[in-house]
Amino acid sequence: MKKLKNKAPNIFNTPIAFFFMAIFLFYGGCKKDVPVPNYKTQNIFILVVDGARFTETWGEPTHQYIPHRSALLQQGVFCSKFYNNAFTATCPGHDAMCTGVYENINNTGIQYPTNPSIFQYWMKTFDRPCSEAWIVSTKDKLEVLSDCVAPEWRGTYRPSTDCGVNGLFTGYREDSTTFKNLKSITTNNHVRMAIVNFKQPDVAGHLGDSAAYLQGILDTDDYIFQFWNFLQSNPFYKDKTTLIITNDHGRHSAGHLDGFISHGDLCEGCKHIEFFALGPDFKQNYTCATPYEQIDIASTVAELMGFKVPTSNGKVMKDIFRN
Ligand SMILES: [Zn+2]
Ligand SMILES: [Zn+2]
Repeated sequence: MKKLKNKAPNIFNTPIAFFFMAIFLFYGGCKKDVPVPNYKTQNIFILVVDGARFTETWGEPTHQYIPHRSALLQQGVFCSKFYNNAFTATCPGHDAMCTGVYENINNTGIQYPTNPSIFQYWMKTFDRPCSEAWIVSTKDKLEVLSDCVAPEWRGTYRPSTDCGVNGLFTGYREDSTTFKNLKSITTNNHVRMAIVNFKQPDVAGHLGDSAAYLQGILDTDDYIFQFWNFLQSNPFYKDKTTLIITNDHGRHSAGHLDGFISHGDLCEGCKHIEFFALGPDFKQNYTCATPYEQIDIASTVAELMGFKVPTSNGKVMKDIFRN
């Protein structure tokens, strides 16, 4: 067959066309990329030392009950004015950290939070599986942190739980069991967000056993130290994991009511709590005197992990960030 003369050249077959097409595809593809994150943190663990009073942790001048945290301050940040400004009990305190709202839920485990948690927002925002978000708790009642009653959220985007002897209403277990489980959960899953509760200071305090109370603070200090070393020795977590240490509440100030045995009001002993954090985005060897509070944890976690918690009443603790 004879070739047609004067046929227009097919520009789509020319090298120039390929060049422009490549540029188009390259920039078109880039637009769909996830934006560059503002922070190095990719995983966050919140470790709660239940009911340790500030005067026995950072407020004790020699730091004799928190020797590991005291040494780790070289790598981290401590907030000297951190408060639970509302309901100084276990379930409400943990709820405030996770939702960014002081809700005053029942303290026995019969009531779920009203607002969605940072776990639910994170799982929904990034479509993450429940194997990456965990509630790990010595106290079984904290299983309520795994859900909320807001109609549009209830029963959805729920983190995994490992609470108490065997879930809600099965009783407390030992902190040593919680620590063992925490290590196996973080080894066997790529955990991206978790809150962990250790009971001992609170339970010993209620029993009026001051020696066991102080030993509980020492034991949790050791767990914290071991867990930080575990994270930093694991390639999945090393240098991209934030560890926050805090309390749900303190205990009555000395001379107030029954002293260290109970808690529940807004005396200085009950509301002044610990905030200590390690991770790639925090200042190091730094004591922050800006007043912050329990509900700020939710907003700060969300900021570091790149999602929003629109229902939080807290603020981002920007003064503890490196930049
Ligand atoms: Zn208590
Ligand atoms: Zn009090």
